[in-house]
Amino acid sequence: MARTEFLAERINRIKPSPSMAAKALVDKLRAEGRDIIDFTIGEPDLNTPTHVVEAAIDAMHRGETKYTGSSGTPALRKTIAEKLHRDNGLEYGAENIVVGSGGKHVIFHALAVSLNRGDEVIIHAPYWVSYPDMVVVNDGVPVIVSGTEQQGFKLTPESLEAAITPRTKWLILNTPNNPTGAVYTEAELVALGEVLERHPHVWVMSDEIYEHFVYAGVRHVSPVKAIPSIKDRSLVISGASKGYSMTGFRLGFGAGPTSLVNAISKLVSQTTTCPSSISQAAAIAAFGGSQDAPREAAKVFEARGKLMAELLEGVPGISVKAPRGAFYLYPCVAGLIGKTTPDGQALNSDLDVVKYFTEYAGVATLDGSAYGVAPYLRLSFATSEESIREGCKRIAQACNELR
Ligand code: PMP
Ligand code: GLU
Repeated sequence: MARTEFLAERINRIKPSPSMAAKALVDKLRAEGRDIIDFTIGEPDLNTPTHVVEAAIDAMHRGETKYTGSSGTPALRKTIAEKLHRDNGLEYGAENIVVGSGGKHVIFHALAVSLNRGDEVIIHAPYWVSYPDMVVVNDGVPVIVSGTEQQGFKLTPESLEAAITPRTKWLILNTPNNPTGAVYTEAELVALGEVLERHPHVWVMSDEIYEHFVYAGVRHVSPVKAIPSIKDRSLVISGASKGYSMTGFRLGFGAGPTSLVNAISKLVSQTTTCPSSISQAAAIAAFGGSQDAPREAAKVFEARGKLMAELLEGVPGISVKAPRGAFYLYPCVAGLIGKTTPDGQALNSDLDVVKYFTEYAGVATLDGSAYGVAPYLRLSFATSEESIREGCKRIAQACNELR
């Protein structure tokens, strides 16, 4: 048993990632023989494209099984610069790119190389669960700006302006958003840009990991494209995990000023050394090869998201909207709070709802509380249509049995 007093104060400031903890719980319950429908983890169930898998195998046969430079191979960095031009209309050179072991790794390292004790990072809620803890463990202070469903869960210029102080180091923007699926329009980004132009000390971390997944005619616009004046103080984050079903390859990147990407690379050289050489070869095929896979995946997820929203519409106590992007629904469950379960438990929070659905209905979900806005649930629809149908049926039944 580890003695907690041995551990650094830093690690006690944070909790395990709730999405990873939920996935671990699903694995544990299934190992115990429980029949669980999993709406927790945000991970495409689709196969990695064959040409990407083959590129990884070919790289191994060619002997590309060794360390690479800390920022990634020149070939991959060039491919990413070309991808940013092709998909996002952004002009970066290979020297502006740092490749990491997942987008999460790059975000963490970017915070680690830039935050001094007490520096503030503006995070709009609902937020991806890892942002606040990644700030806290790196001595920063998350400044949470709460969003509302009425504003489409998007940061407004007024609330951004009000949150900025002389200690603000970063604004983290995430479009398309995890967990709400919100996608910022160009006009909304331009309006945020007007605020940012008044505060040149604020850097922008633009997390675009769900860039391929936009629905119902909505377009993904990179904030740096919409607000060119912030390019010299922005880090664009994306990766292979979501668009190309490559979560296990652990491959993401950041694009930004050389001063920042070189600092990230320096820290990588002292931590993980470099991203996996095999994953980097695969990522060249993903970002540089046929783009059919992300296009097809977007169609599949759009249909699944629509289906899940339709199946939950009209379920008593749940209020749901079809998603605009990413692969999550974020339904409000205010109508379930105060109800009593068949075995006499009161539902006092969205956490209680999660517990009830898991234990009583065998459907695992995440609580909105973990994402900073309650009472909501986060449901991932990056799972099979069959699971979506069965899971929603079970949720509807569980809701109908409440008193
Ligand atoms: N940003 C957001 C908003 C995410 O949901 C994820 C998924 N874990 C990531 C970044 C990072 O993904 P990865 O580390 O697999 O690239
Ligand atoms: N981003 C995914 C999710 O939100 C993967 C898990 C994680 O890194 O948090 O479920």
